[in-house]
Amino acid sequence: MKVVLEHLTKRFPSRNKKSNEEVIAANDLTFEIPDGKLIGLLGPSGCGKSTTLNMISGLLKPTEGKIFFGEDDVTDLPAEHRGVGLVFQSYALYPHLTVRQNITFPLENLKGDKKLTKEQMAEKALEAAKLVQIDQLMDRKPSELSGGQQQRVAIARALVKMPKVLLLDEPLSNLDARLRLQTREELRRIQRETGITTIFVTHDQEEAMSISDSIVVMKDGLVHQIGKPQEVYDNPVNLFVAKFLGTPPINVFQGSVRGKDIYIGEEKVLETNSLQLSNDSDVVVAVRPEGFLLDENGPLTLNLDRVEVMGRDISVVSTHPDCENASIRSIIDSDNEVNTDSKTVRFSLKPKKMHIFNKETGERIPFTVK
Ligand code: ADP
Ligand code: MG
Repeated sequence: MKVVLEHLTKRFPSRNKKSNEEVIAANDLTFEIPDGKLIGLLGPSGCGKSTTLNMISGLLKPTEGKIFFGEDDVTDLPAEHRGVGLVFQSYALYPHLTVRQNITFPLENLKGDKKLTKEQMAEKALEAAKLVQIDQLMDRKPSELSGGQQQRVAIARALVKMPKVLLLDEPLSNLDARLRLQTREELRRIQRETGITTIFVTHDQEEAMSISDSIVVMKDGLVHQIGKPQEVYDNPVNLFVAKFLGTPPINVFQGSVRGKDIYIGEEKVLETNSLQLSNDSDVVVAVRPEGFLLDENGPLTLNLDRVEVMGRDISVVSTHPDCENASIRSIIDSDNEVNTDSKTVRFSLKPKKMHIFNKETGERIPFTVK
């Protein structure tokens, strides 16, 4: 089931009595979530992810705009009739019910021709439990389960009615690092197996990148960019998106463009072939950690701090007066030998791994190289 948002907007009245300024939690969102895909809704805390998800689920009424499931306008349809499965950060299981009863719960109230027998319910509950691999725990109470197991019960409960759309709001945030990794891989497997259109909300870019067919990057209620994770990483539309994606983060320098050449300080770091900028001006130059090539004649000189060996790679940690990151991280192959006696280290830059941005607007300025 595809989901379409058209000019979806949510305004909340001001919480501050003195000012009348309202909060636009979701601002004119227009995009489509294709049938059977997993979309990551990604952005910093407070950017409007939960608000957007809650409008799609029907828990929250939009101020403006429309929501379609397939061809059907569901904007005014109550949540219980939308056929969505919901999972939140807190598992919200019924403590006095067993795992089996918790999973069966959404099936108990089905009416008319949807009504199920006890046997049918048990069968569906077991099917959902098997999907998330908790079928051996059916007779336990939530208090007898680990956090990871409890979240699986919550996922099974959301899946038991085979929803048309699965909505997950930071479902892994309460799990420890290892379980978070494991559970996100399982979510991906379950989503592939069931083919349920899924929207996965997270503030964790790595989580979103690893699990999603496409990501929607939001900030301040606005969608900044939509695309496949790799495409967005490689071609961020603006400095916010470039900085939000990637660990270690992109290295951000104050630089300039002179003619067709890109400078950091007085060092010409790249000669371009064409560049969409009419006048020489100051720009932001951003370089991914994997964009540095150790090169003793390279154009960029950094002040060497230390070298961290990470097995497969080496992380060269350095500083530069024009760099806004407290330390610059350059990830290079472990075959490289860095002279740690030297106070400086020189690099050339991979053009595909660097971007320049308008200093005022933050928009990316495209360029090509020879
Ligand atoms: P996220 O899930 O991305 O962290 P939210 O959707 O929860 O963000 O919130 C987006 C913005 O809307 C925030 O500024 C938040 O304070 C505000 N907001 C959320 N819910 C309400 C509400 N019920 N009343 C007023 N403001 C709200
Ligand atoms: Mg939220």
